[in-house]
Amino acid sequence: MAIIIDGKKTSADIKAEIAAETAEFIKASGVTPGLAVVIVGNDPASEVYVRNKCRACEAVGFHSEKYELSGDSTEEELMALIDKLNDDKNIHGILVQLPLPKHMDVEKVLLRIKPEKDVDAFHPYNTGKIMQGKYDFLPCTPAGVMELLARYNVEIKGKNCVVIGRSDIVGKPMSMLLLHKDGTVTVCHSRTVDLPEVCRRADIIVAAVGRPNFVTADMVKEGAVVIDVGINRLPDGKLCGDVAYDEVEKKASAITPVPGGVGPMTIAMLMRNTLTAAQKSIK
Ligand code: NAD
Repeated sequence: MAIIIDGKKTSADIKAEIAAETAEFIKASGVTPGLAVVIVGNDPASEVYVRNKCRACEAVGFHSEKYELSGDSTEEELMALIDKLNDDKNIHGILVQLPLPKHMDVEKVLLRIKPEKDVDAFHPYNTGKIMQGKYDFLPCTPAGVMELLARYNVEIKGKNCVVIGRSDIVGKPMSMLLLHKDGTVTVCHSRTVDLPEVCRRADIIVAAVGRPNFVTADMVKEGAVVIDVGINRLPDGKLCGDVAYDEVEKKASAITPVPGGVGPMTIAMLMRNTLTAAQKSIK
């Protein structure tokens, strides 16, 4: 029986710590951390994410502003809003909710956010710093995974870590963070040959593929730690991860469930980044 890594509880613990730290910070500096969330169009999943982010801000004592642009807004309109928020002293973090409508150039838009307000850590300046291990902000999902591993005392140093997925948002930064903690990291992707064999060598597996039940028990070494980043919606509306939880849980030493694993950590890490941005703004 594996230890269930409880992201919901850990996220609540972290948010309580951030709330306490925020109260101290406001008292000492007179500055309230502020997050601006920008949503373009009306993608229902994005609307839920944005609502949850604003609620989390309220819970930890931040000021939050939500900007809703219609799906047919121009890129120039979005850029003008980002410029305004870049110059706004009350806003320390700017988050543009992805995906953007197809007529907008995501790369160009993300480049416009000042790196010191880039609390998603998607700006090339911040991703470059992550490569060097000298970061102010970490992308929220990989940071959430690292926090879970740390709080559950999972040793990374010298361990074989297999990351499945090489996206800019999850897989690549995830592998860098494990490397910075002295893991021996293998990054797998859709062209990896004999993925099950590579996975069977792993002490720690991080699955970020986006395919339900992709990691099965035969791919997992007895006693491995299995972190499931995947969020997949099944035809019946239920959420599931990338890991075949019921069978893998019997072999793993520790595992994250979906929902209730990595997902809740992402927002906690966004709050952490926003507080860091506010703290740095007065230095
Ligand atoms: P993505 O589609 O950008 O990347 C998926 C990766 O999986 C790619 O690098 C691809 O090479 C790899 N892949 C695809 N098929 C494969 C195969 N057959 N074998 C090996 N590798 C394969 O997705 P993403 O943005 O990195 O997200 C991955 C998953 O994580 C999704 O389910 C997404 O919803 C979820 N996610 C969760 C959170 C969270 O807060 N928990 C945040 C971001 C993403």
